[in-house]
Parts: sequence; C-alpha cells; structure tokens
Amino acid sequence: KKYVPRHNKLDVEKHYKIGKELGSGNFAVVKAAVKRDTNQKVAIKMIDKKLCEGKEDMIETEVAILRQVQHPNIVGMIEEFDTPEKLYLVLELVEGGELFDRIVDHGSFTEQDASRLIRQITAAVKYLHERDIVHRDLKPENLLFRTPDHDSDIMITDFGLSKLINENLALETACGTPNYVAPEILLQKGYGKPVDIWSIGVITFILLCGYPPFYDESDALLFQKIMKGKFAYDPSYWSTISDSAKDVISSMLIVDPNRRLTADQVLAHPWVSGKTARDVNLS
Ligand code: ADP
Ligand code: MG
Repeated sequence: KKYVPRHNKLDVEKHYKIGKELGSGNFAVVKAAVKRDTNQKVAIKMIDKKLCEGKEDMIETEVAILRQVQHPNIVGMIEEFDTPEKLYLVLELVEGGELFDRIVDHGSFTEQDASRLIRQITAAVKYLHERDIVHRDLKPENLLFRTPDHDSDIMITDFGLSKLINENLALETACGTPNYVAPEILLQKGYGKPVDIWSIGVITFILLCGYPPFYDESDALLFQKIMKGKFAYDPSYWSTISDSAKDVISSMLIVDPNRRLTADQVLAHPWVSGKTARDVNLS
C-alpha cells in the first residue's frame, strides 16, 4: 500500500495560522496553530523529510498509525499535509506540558498519583497492543498532560518509532533512548510488545523516587546494567514506599520478555488498579 498525500504545503498555511514552538525531538518540530475558519487550537508536528532520508517508511508508518488510533490517553491526529520536503501532522493540542518537566519540577510523585498515571499510560498501551502496535519510545518526553492541573490526565504521543507488527514478525531495528530501552533491544534479539512494559517499569520507578533504575555515565556500562536487569531500591528513597509498588516494578523490569507482565496483567495488579498504592508519603 502506497501512502497517498492528501494536501500540499500551501494548504497548511491556507487553513491554519501557525504560532509558537511547543517542542521538538529527533525528527520534528511541533508548533501551536489555529484553524482559520473554526478557531480550533491544534498542534502541528512538522517533520523534515531530509532528516529521515532512507527512512521514509517510518513517516508513512507514523501517519498510518495515528490515523487509526482513537483513545482518551493517546494524542489524536486530525489531518495531515504532505509536501516533498515536509510532512505536517495536525494533532490534538495538549496543553499540560511533558511528564518530563513535572518530574524535574516535583522530584517524585505520591504513590496514588503515580498509580493513576501508570493506570492511564498502561490502558493506552493495552489499546495499542491489542491492535498490534508497539510504541517503542515510551519516555517522559513523550507523555503529555492534557491540562496544567495537578490531577490532569496523561496522554501518549510520538509514534515516530513505532511499527505495526505482524503476529510472527519481530521488530528488529535497534533504536530508542538508552535509559528506557529493554534488554532485548540492546541484545538485538528482535522486539515486540514487552519492550513497552519495560519502559513503563522504568517510568514507574522514576515517578516514585525521581531517579532512573538504570544509570551510568558510560553508555557501555549502562547497557550492561540493563542487560543484567540489575537495579536496587535504595532504602534512603524507597523505605517508605509500599511493597506492592516494588512488586509491580520488579514484575515489569524482568529481563526475559516472556516472563514480564503484559499490559493486562499490569492493569490487574493491585497497585495499579488502585487498592494498594499508599495515599501519603510516609517519609
Ligand atoms: P519527535 O518525534 O521529534 O520526538 P514529538 O512528537 O515527541 O516529536 O514532539 C516533540 C515535543 O513537542 C514533545 O516532546 C512535546 O513537548 C511537544 N508536543 C508534541 N505533540 C504535542 C501536542 N499534540 N500538543 C502539545 N505539545 C506537543
Ligand atoms: Mg518525542
């Protein structure tokens, strides 16, 4: 199936008034915009095709996936515009900022807040996995709050690296952000849905203590730690955190992808379904 562009660049500026930059990543710049005829506020992700030469399939994949996906915790795509140099994805505007920035500002979250966020993220991932979509780049920069409120819902964005997988076909391109990548990616063993659960495990750990489970100045040593699945609950940060929280993290950060929890199992875990997460920080 060949990707058929629906618009040209003139149309983008004809239909949208483009405003300030909201963020950027490896391939794209994202800007706020307003639809001229309806005043609808949106975000437009602008992908420079030169930066992804030889990876044009990646773009088509992102568009194909975004078009299909509809979930309250996943940033939706409204329409797209295609030119020879750039692809413009018109996205639902998400105004609460990145989880990354809230971690930097707050240090860590209460168990109840973390549990609620992990429940929403995992529900979105379950939705994707049911459609044989693996996100592959789950990290706090790609998790956005719907509103600036403290108790805002969270949404997954950025399917730039995700692929639709066939039942038997493992994903084999090595990519991702070192701190969040699963061991099987580093071992280049091919990877599928369990890589997202590993990333959720890393994110859960960080939400509760403010630092990552696997860290090293040297990428080589970091990779070794991840491949061994070696991490610790340092008592000076973790003594007040429930055993149930540690249990769900330890069940996601399992090196063997076949033994790792599935999205369904994470959602069924008592810490995630909301019964055992502590409501106050005991420290
Ligand atoms: P990349 O593929 O380059 O990483 P992303 O889709 O992750 O691009 O977007 C880069 C950044 O732009 C995000 O980390 C976020 O801060 C911001 N951003 C992306 N999509 C939206 C959106 N729909 N609403 C608001 N900000 C967004
Ligand atoms: Mg991104």
